[in-house]
Order: sequence, then C-alpha cells, then structure tokens
Amino acid sequence: MTIKATKGACTLCGKEYTRSGMSKHLASCLTKLPAESIIDDEHVSLHLLVTTRYPSGYWLHLHTDELATFKKLDRFCANSGWNATAI
Ligand SMILES: [Zn+2]
Repeated sequence: MTIKATKGACTLCGKEYTRSGMSKHLASCLTKLPAESIIDDEHVSLHLLVTTRYPSGYWLHLHTDELATFKKLDRFCANSGWNATAI
C-alpha cells in the first residue's frame, strides 16, 4: 500500500510542505525566522520529528528546549491529537 505524502504548515511562516520537505525547509526557515527558544544562548533547542510506528501520512516536527520532559512532550502531542507511547 502506498502512503500518500501529506502536507503540514510551518508555524513560523505558514507555508505548506511534505514531511521531508518540511525537514529541509525548517533548516532555512529557523535561521530566517528563529523561534524565541533558539535565540537564548543559555539553552540548547531540539528539533524532533514525531512519526507513527508504522508507515502512515502522520508526522509532526517539534521545536523544544533541552529541558522539556517526555511528560510535557506527551501532553503537547495529546493536545495536538497525537496519542504518544514510549517504546
Ligand atoms: Zn517556515
């Protein structure tokens, strides 16, 4: 079964991309329109790509700081419609 590439919107600029396109896009968009957390020189920011365990069209790019706990990320994913499970 072929999975159709789904698109998502960049919350920084609003443009739409596929999952792989978004990865490439964020590398440049984050330097042009940096999120507040990466301006802070005292903390490291993380770019996470959340996908499903099995092939699907669902994906989510997250930008978070190094202090984010799994519980906080899990709550964010749940509020975004994801049901995250640690493996
Ligand atoms: Zn963007």
